[in-house]
Amino acid sequence: MKRTSRHGNKQPISLPRTYRPGMLGVDMTLDHATPDSADLLYAIAYEAFQRGASPVDVMDALVRRKLQLSPSGSLLLDHQSVQSPFNTQKISLTDNGIGELAGGGWYYEFLLNLVLDAEKDYRNMVAREYGGLNQFVKSVFLDPDKRIRSGQDYYYHMRPSYYVAGYSRPPANFLDRIGPASFFNIIVAGGLHQDFSQLLAEVEKKVIELVKINDGSIEAVLRRGLGGFVPRNIRGTNMLSNHAFGMAMDIDPAHNPYFTDRRVIETLNWIVIDLGYYFDRPLMRKDESGGVDELHRRAQAASDRVSQWLRLHLDEYKTLKDAQGRMSSPEVERRLAGHDMARLDTMAMALGKTWYTILKGWRDFGIQTIPLSVARAMHALGIRWGQEYGEKKDGMHFELPNSVRRDSSKRSSGLADLKELALFWTNRSGRALKQSSY
Ligand SMILES: [Zn+2]
Repeated sequence: MKRTSRHGNKQPISLPRTYRPGMLGVDMTLDHATPDSADLLYAIAYEAFQRGASPVDVMDALVRRKLQLSPSGSLLLDHQSVQSPFNTQKISLTDNGIGELAGGGWYYEFLLNLVLDAEKDYRNMVAREYGGLNQFVKSVFLDPDKRIRSGQDYYYHMRPSYYVAGYSRPPANFLDRIGPASFFNIIVAGGLHQDFSQLLAEVEKKVIELVKINDGSIEAVLRRGLGGFVPRNIRGTNMLSNHAFGMAMDIDPAHNPYFTDRRVIETLNWIVIDLGYYFDRPLMRKDESGGVDELHRRAQAASDRVSQWLRLHLDEYKTLKDAQGRMSSPEVERRLAGHDMARLDTMAMALGKTWYTILKGWRDFGIQTIPLSVARAMHALGIRWGQEYGEKKDGMHFELPNSVRRDSSKRSSGLADLKELALFWTNRSGRALKQSSY
């Protein structure tokens, strides 16, 4: 065999394929890979795909050089020259410092094939996994923001979040136990994990015990909306919400809002200042007594105050905004700059286009509609209420945190550790691979 074939691009070269594409599947872990074969590289690539990396990310991790996609979609190397770990000859790139990957020598072809094989295997595994989901889960595993992606694409998109969180097989970990659910005979949109829905049946019994006679007022609140399983991260973070496990339920979301916007929180704090209530601090200190009853009482007092304030000012504000929209006048501007109007203006801006609908809801129903009996019963059965949160209250939200067991510790979402492993492989196995292949 001629030595020139190693880095000559014109002659056909047989690429080393000691890894076994298609045979490894999800069970192929880094622990199983033999360090001296290319299995390890394949396992690194497969692991990277499980963590949500793109083929470019994976190539980047394996070659230890920064790569980018050309407009045509092919891989580019952005260094003037790239040194293959298997030979000392530098590969010259084009004048502008960018060379097509295909011109980068056999090592890169080998890596690219390996990466694409691993990607194909991973994609097939995800398709099989998605195909095995029950019909109910398929019907609710949808993109919650823009329902454009197919269910399978969305599953592909979300799976790495679960994997990184320590759930290697989401169907076996929890998805297979998500099913239709109801609370007081009202359907919970998205369904729930069966552990949570079974507990809700207990909550129901407890509520009836507490109220003695159910006059239908509980159902009236619940009918305004019950939400369960939603496969997504907590808004504004890359952490999975308990909704993503079917272990949380939202009640009447419009009138038990989740407050995150600083401007809204500060306006509300100002409205309830004399109640000693803050929307960005715990409602109850750890050393205070009274438990869930006192928590509910404080939340209710704040809610009453907010709706009272809106009854006083919302109509006037709406009238002024409408007048401003038609043709503003100094008088309209002067009144809008007033004490309460300016606060309302700040809040309305933060709430966006639907501000009037939202604020009308808060005026008419308040920002706390959870019946005391429900809060008490949930608490008694160990379900956590979002009203207990410190910085960001989520009054609609009831959850069983950390209740789905992981099958692995949490994983890094980056690839730094995999890059280290790739380097280890390069150092240890490069010579052996080089000799066995040529
Ligand atoms: Zn929630």
